[in-house]
Amino acid sequence: DRLLGAAADSDDQAVEAALRPRDLGEFVGQERVREQLGLVLQAARQRGGTADHVLLSGAPGLGKTTLSMIIAAEMGVPIRITSGPAIQHAGDLAAILSSLAEGEVLFLDEIHRMSRPAEEMLYMAMEDFRVDVVVGKGPGATAIPLELPPFTLVGATTRAGLLPPPLRDRFGFTGHMEFYAPAELERVIHRSAGLLDVSVDAGGAAEIAGRSRGTPRIANRLLRRVRDYAQVRADGLVTRETAAKALEVYEVDARGLDRLDRAVLRALLTLFGGGPVGLSTLAVAVGEERETVEEVAEPFLVREGLLARTPRGRVATAAAWTHLGLVAPQHSGG
Ligand code: ADP
Repeated sequence: DRLLGAAADSDDQAVEAALRPRDLGEFVGQERVREQLGLVLQAARQRGGTADHVLLSGAPGLGKTTLSMIIAAEMGVPIRITSGPAIQHAGDLAAILSSLAEGEVLFLDEIHRMSRPAEEMLYMAMEDFRVDVVVGKGPGATAIPLELPPFTLVGATTRAGLLPPPLRDRFGFTGHMEFYAPAELERVIHRSAGLLDVSVDAGGAAEIAGRSRGTPRIANRLLRRVRDYAQVRADGLVTRETAAKALEVYEVDARGLDRLDRAVLRALLTLFGGGPVGLSTLAVAVGEERETVEEVAEPFLVREGLLARTPRGRVATAAAWTHLGLVAPQHSGG
């Protein structure tokens, strides 16, 4: 797995649990979502009721699971965690819903990947706290209505636009999670370093933050790799220099590009003169699947302003030439 992949891997899970902020005050950044959510929760608490359903949209690793746990903690209720792909049949969802405790938070990650029948069952559950469980098959099938305790659904998705409007409309509040600014990632790193008992100075935190692609999960993962390096090859203290050297070993460059990202850019620049070139051709040139280039490398390159997707193909920007230390050829008109 890539060190810079934003999805959680097995190595992350135990450490992540230890590093998760426990309340809104500890949660770094996302000022707008934090304020909005704080109001939703406080109002629900004052009314003595259950919080409205919450939709969180944003890239992997930005803190959606963490926020859902904070919602449960702030409401003083338990939480159940599952995901869209884990719910194949409406019956799976019915089983989960009917076993929820009063007021419980149900966190549904990748909610856009739920099956259609489950999705339709969810509409009714969200709105009326009721599901119809179908018993039997064919003409003899009957729908048995089942009352549910009030609960708070927290749905997470990479993009709110992926959800069918009827589902989206049933959320009382949608929080859009943004990528984190370097200064915010530095705070995440200092906080995690404290919890992991790693000494990091300001320069070290800044160096890791700059290579973390705006994503706390990546910042925490890079911190762990840098800690290893500092322990084995230095005196344990993470300075700017140690962090830079450590991440060089892991082929993460100053801007957070890894080997694949640079291979794609380099091919685009040196083999195709900066483009435009078709995605398939570019993928063949770096010896990767089309999907890998498109879904793994490109989004970050586009976000960084190093690559553009145009109708005629992929094009490198001036910044791409500079980043790889190459000189763009002079265009001879046309
Ligand atoms: P997502 O569910 O969006 O993929 P997670 O909630 O699992 O992301 O967060 C990934 C990791 O990053 C966790 O270890 C979490 O503690 C950390 N993290 C995420 N957001 C923040 C934040 N705002 N402040 C501090 N740590 C954070």
